[in-house]
Amino acid sequence: MKTIKLTREHIYKGNLILVNANYPIVENIANKNISLIPFDIRYPDILMEYRAATVLSHLVSDLNGSDDIVPVSGYRPLREQEQIYTESLRENGEEFTKKYVALPNHSEHQTGLAIDLAKRQDDIDFICPEFPYHGIYNEFRKEIPRYGFIERYQKEKEDITGISHEPWHFRYVGYPHSQIIYEMGICLEEYIEEIKKYSLDSKGLVVERDKQKIEIFYVPILNSKEQMTVFLPDNSLYQISGNNVDGCIITLWRE
Ligand SMILES: [Zn+2]
Repeated sequence: MKTIKLTREHIYKGNLILVNANYPIVENIANKNISLIPFDIRYPDILMEYRAATVLSHLVSDLNGSDDIVPVSGYRPLREQEQIYTESLRENGEEFTKKYVALPNHSEHQTGLAIDLAKRQDDIDFICPEFPYHGIYNEFRKEIPRYGFIERYQKEKEDITGISHEPWHFRYVGYPHSQIIYEMGICLEEYIEEIKKYSLDSKGLVVERDKQKIEIFYVPILNSKEQMTVFLPDNSLYQISGNNVDGCIITLWRE
């Protein structure tokens, strides 16, 4: 058995952290030591977390989409999110800004795991870029669950996410979570709740993909405890991510 020690800090970092109006990013924990690279070297200023960027560039090149799909906005430090929010308030007013721009520290863009993408054209709107539901753009949408990405703000989920429909905003959560979220037709808020049904003491959520058995568990990290000890099988690959709410999600690739 492998022994893993989880502390409260683990709640606030990882691919599955939920960042929204209720759960702010914990700066300097979520993005501490984050390594950022451009997903498309023609746009060196638009950065993403290393793994998310790498997977996304594979996806776009597998689709032959690099001439059509343009990155608009990736990682944003706190100060940039503050600027965007203030400028949008001034230029677009309060109603529009509340719909489309997250408050500073409540934006997924501060995690490095989110990107806004646009259809290539002369005039690209920075806040609401066009990313159509047809052609190569929809091919892209169909492929993303296999690459660890989700379309984060869907029309039917506006009441839950608190953000208006954003066809251009994509979020890396990692595979197989992206595939499960897609197949269940839920949003990240709902997925974080769903996973709470699966604890380490009972049974995990089991998915079988390409003859691989993957098991997903939720581990609550209680306020009263400084540290939680978790035991995992010896020869297993695993990933740990916080949910940014109250615990961690463990993904275990069984032998
Ligand atoms: Zn966005």
